[in-house]
Amino acid sequence: MTQLPASAKYVIVGAGVHGLSTAWHLAMELGTGDDIVLIDKTAPGAGATGIACGCVRNFYMTEPIHALVRESVDVWNYDPVLLGFQQVGYISCGEENQISEYEKIHKSQNSVGYSSDLYVGQDARNFLSSVWPDFKHHTIDVVIHEKLSGYAGTQQAVDGLTALCERHGVNIVGGVEVTGYDVQGGSVRAVETKTGTIEADVVILCMGAWIPAHWEMLGKPMTLDVGYQDGSFVEGKDMWTYWRLEEGEVYYDGPYYTADNLNPPVLHIELMNTPLVDPTTGKELDDNIYVYWKNGTERMERPGIQGGGLPKMIGPDASVEPYGHANDAYQADASFADEFAAAMGMFMERFDGIRPDFKERRNGGIGAFTPDNIPIMDWILPNVYMVADSNHGFKMTGIGKLVAKELAGSSPVSELQPFRFDRFERGAAYGSGTTHSPWV
Ligand SMILES: Cc1cc2nc3c(=O)[nH]c(=O)nc-3n(C[C@H](O)[C@H](O)[C@H](O)COP(=O)(O)OP(=O)(O)OC[C@H]3O[C@@H](n4cnc5c(N)ncnc54)[C@H](O)[C@@H]3O)c2cc1C
Repeated sequence: MTQLPASAKYVIVGAGVHGLSTAWHLAMELGTGDDIVLIDKTAPGAGATGIACGCVRNFYMTEPIHALVRESVDVWNYDPVLLGFQQVGYISCGEENQISEYEKIHKSQNSVGYSSDLYVGQDARNFLSSVWPDFKHHTIDVVIHEKLSGYAGTQQAVDGLTALCERHGVNIVGGVEVTGYDVQGGSVRAVETKTGTIEADVVILCMGAWIPAHWEMLGKPMTLDVGYQDGSFVEGKDMWTYWRLEEGEVYYDGPYYTADNLNPPVLHIELMNTPLVDPTTGKELDDNIYVYWKNGTERMERPGIQGGGLPKMIGPDASVEPYGHANDAYQADASFADEFAAAMGMFMERFDGIRPDFKERRNGGIGAFTPDNIPIMDWILPNVYMVADSNHGFKMTGIGKLVAKELAGSSPVSELQPFRFDRFERGAAYGSGTTHSPWV
């Protein structure tokens, strides 16, 4: 059915990775998708989900995330071919100042069954050379190798999740834009759209960068006082902050393989004490390094590499429309191509002088981040549930599985407890680590 029905027990708004995953898993929990309507103002994958790099990693100081990503990998492995999941692993590289954090992350990952190996000092450098014989180590002192991680091809993931929703009877209705909510007695009675009104028992918001506007429509506060786990406190912090994700692609006919002729792990390097220097010109481009890349052929007409750099903060206001590559204001900076290609050449011999092969096209997009940049999954009204992932999408496909359990069952799901909204007033917000990244 492609028409908006007059009512549904569950109305899910937004058909990105979270709306699709939640709808599919809820249908499995209920035994049928008959009571579920998933609406999107455009179509599945029209938001961040359709333009992401799709990396799935579990490298976080925020330990409760480790169990969430383990669920996500289970979801990808439900049907990795259909969902486009490549379980190639993930390698993160740091310097001496990060060793104690790497040790903590490694311990926590393994305690929840997320298998990873830790290498320190010369062992770290030897390990990198064993994967990529042309690896140039610079100041790398510590490495984590997450064996369960990898990446998902974005279009394949959207098509696969959509197919699973349809297979389980979920009614996906595209071209339906939510414009408001009929709130009565504190709960939403109906969702108002440009196409008509749909009565709902339960509404689930999975709207990525559009969530702030709907949060405001529901009368929720746009600033709040935030207490952190380390005892610090910020008064009147913005509830939502937009960030720009800078990504891009480079043609490489390679092929880009490991020493064993395998598709390499996603590689992520953050060095705070080493400047980024273009190996071809010798010019210093930055006083630190933050870069990740992987095989990117899925999005390219020729073989190539896809990756990105450090996100850039915009602030509490942004023009979300038009979204993604259509928005002139939020494309990757002109300097991104130089920096990305320089980092590739700096760490692997094979990429020396690759800058002319950067694929010049529109790249990047924006996301809405929470006050501590960690997801919020919670009831925000008695019958409105919010999935606000703070731009961790592909790593968090498992959220939909857990949220579906919570919606269909009668008790809260333990893995979701650390991500409740009341953590800010409880002094339980996250956020300490040495990384320059917003995600700690
Ligand atoms: C450039 C970029 C690179 C990224 N790389 C990665 C990565 O490598 N790994 C990773 O884990 N994450 C990555 N992310 C983050 C990830 O893509 C997002 O966190 C995730 O896709 C968000 O999914 P979502 O379902 O919450 O929202 P979205 O995918 O944004 O979906 C929201 C949907 O809501 C719909 N919608 C909006 N308003 C309305 C309305 N009024 N009525 C009805 N429907 C509406 C939209 O059309 C859209 O389809 C990246 C993001 C960007 C922008």
